[in-house]
Amino acid sequence: MDNAQDFGVLLDASCALVLVETNEEDRSLALIRHQAEMRGYPVWTWSTARGLTRDGGSPQYGTDTVHQALSAIGSLPGPGVFVLADGHHALADQTVVRRVKELTATFDAERTLVMTAPRHDVPPELVSTAHVWRLRPPGEGEIRSLVARTLEVLAARGFDIRLTDAGRDQLVASLQGLAVSQAERLLHRVTVRDGILHEGDLPALRLAKAQIFADDGVLELIETASTPLDRIGGLDALKEWLEIRGRVFLHPREGLPHPRGVLLTGVPGCGKSLAAKALAAAWGLPLVLLDPARLFDRYVGGSEEKLRGSLDAIEAMSPAVLWIDEVEKGFAAGSESDGGVTSRMLGTFLRWLQERPDGVFVVATANDVHALPPEFLRRGRFDEIFFVDLPSPQDRADILTTHLELRSLPVGEFGIEELTVATAGFSGAEIEAAIVGGMYRSLGGEGHLDHELLLAEIQRTVPLSRVRAEDITALRHWARDRAVRA
Ligand code: ATP
Repeated sequence: MDNAQDFGVLLDASCALVLVETNEEDRSLALIRHQAEMRGYPVWTWSTARGLTRDGGSPQYGTDTVHQALSAIGSLPGPGVFVLADGHHALADQTVVRRVKELTATFDAERTLVMTAPRHDVPPELVSTAHVWRLRPPGEGEIRSLVARTLEVLAARGFDIRLTDAGRDQLVASLQGLAVSQAERLLHRVTVRDGILHEGDLPALRLAKAQIFADDGVLELIETASTPLDRIGGLDALKEWLEIRGRVFLHPREGLPHPRGVLLTGVPGCGKSLAAKALAAAWGLPLVLLDPARLFDRYVGGSEEKLRGSLDAIEAMSPAVLWIDEVEKGFAAGSESDGGVTSRMLGTFLRWLQERPDGVFVVATANDVHALPPEFLRRGRFDEIFFVDLPSPQDRADILTTHLELRSLPVGEFGIEELTVATAGFSGAEIEAAIVGGMYRSLGGEGHLDHELLLAEIQRTVPLSRVRAEDITALRHWARDRAVRA
């Protein structure tokens, strides 16, 4: 059922009081008017600036205050939909709450009082009468016609609109979740910037949209511009998988299930986080980090509300990549001491994982797979589970080359082959740390960084794979028949 029909049902059900939550007053009013007109009910609107006004008429004398408006509504005969703006301010006054309660108790089937506000805190006195109705963002159809209208206007103003039909579909998908005015502004902004609108503008547009919703204290937008897929040494199977899934994620194919998510586990420091960033960059999607630790609220119920709020925000940001780092820490099997909060949150999250809309691709990373609740590994939650192991000799050569190049060091002079042998058992992060360590030593007066200095730095490093050899063997053992080697 769409928004409009939804509201119509409330009118048909003779709801005496509807509290509308919206940031789009004009859009909600248009929708309310349409539904009221279809039923032959006159519409009256009230704001403190204009007083009570019947559609098509002039303001009623002496109805500037909400009290006066409510009295006037009480004395109007017959059916009607009475829409009061800024309902949250009015309901902050106890005497208004009382009047609203008494007035709506006198309403017959064809009279409805509507109060609009960005958010409503329903006073306890009105809980049994009031129906809270949230105006959802415009649906695909509305966004599509907005895009058509706006592109026509922009083209008429001389801007160069170069979008294929597929590009237009992606544009529509990328603007969903926004209010009409926000979508329109964003479309203007990306076009006016360089005078052209083309598919290459979509990543910037998606990012700008994600920024609007990321401001919730739990979600964080991660910068991915400096992480192309070829920044990753090795992980060829994962890279190929991501490349193919990316094509289907952005251009769905009939008969192929929509890619939904991937779980990356493995040896710390071998590129799981890097892969999450590179994936979002390669697909041209915003990367949104959900840190489960930020969800835990000291007020009972607060954490679950925050989680639900964040999941709503993520859906509004779609298409987007949601990254949950160290997922085993945030959603570890609930301890007894927290009153069941963790297990309820886990339940909510798993349900969302199962039912989430197609526009959100989830990348979960985990170091301690043993702490991961088994429900995470059940089929249907993720398309694939990858195990990111220590890099092979060829991968280490690639990682050494990449990190030397990133720091503008002359790769050819470093004897990569010998360094590859010397870094056996190193993670990518440890190889990078040895190069950085070597650079600091050279700054500290040991000459410029060359093969010898880097080799010495490598030899000084004791890799984690040696210190925690048993843990890594156990990890590999776990992964053998549960995960695909990345
Ligand atoms: P952790 O589980 O400890 O968070 P991780 O597996 O997520 O580790 P990253 O954070 O991706 O590892 O790696 C840390 C840094 O090490 C990266 O930013 C990158 O510079 C370097 N690195 C790790 N693996 C690779 C790789 N395969 N190719 C290139 N660089 C790598």
